[in-house]
Amino acid sequence: MRLFLALTPPTALRQRLGGLADRLHAELGGRRIPDDNLHLTLAFLGEQSDTTALKLRRWVQRYPCAPGRLTLDHVGYFHRPGIVWIGPSSPPDSLLKLQSDLSRQLTRWGLPHQPQQFRPHVSLLRSAMTQSAQPLSEDYFCWPYTSIQLIQSSISHEGSRYTTLATSR
Ligand code: ATP
Ligand code: MG
Repeated sequence: MRLFLALTPPTALRQRLGGLADRLHAELGGRRIPDDNLHLTLAFLGEQSDTTALKLRRWVQRYPCAPGRLTLDHVGYFHRPGIVWIGPSSPPDSLLKLQSDLSRQLTRWGLPHQPQQFRPHVSLLRSAMTQSAQPLSEDYFCWPYTSIQLIQSSISHEGSRYTTLATSR
């Protein structure tokens, strides 16, 4: 199964991010990522066995995630896949530490994962033609997080569908 570790936004923030995705979609086109799929990837593990998935589930369920706070204040564009995203202009040390701690443990277990260079972001649009010329958001999105999630990504005819397999305590 295809797995990744992520932060998922609380419901109210998810809805506000969805509103931003709608506005950007109206301006830039492409494919708007559904609210249910909005997330920030901490580690992408790709295809893993059931045994590894079980081990990861148990680990995540007990993972002592230090609570932190993100400010999403920057809209950016990844050219090759045409992804419009929002992220922190300056990622807090707490988030960088969370990602590197997770990465270290995955490496210790011999589980290769991406990204090697962490660029924290929440994708909002795919296959968008271009980034807007004007500043895209006057809004700041404050994201207090308290846990990480282990998520399974499955292909369905409507695109990728995510299922949360485990949440940290
Ligand atoms: P789809 O690929 O169907 O458009 P998706 O990209 O949301 O949907 P996945 O490909 O399963 O679904 O990816 C899950 C998460 O992991 C996404 O945040 C994606 O950006 C990230 N991801 C996928 N592949 C990689 C990779 N090679 N390196 C880093 N992150 C990745
Ligand atoms: Mg993908």
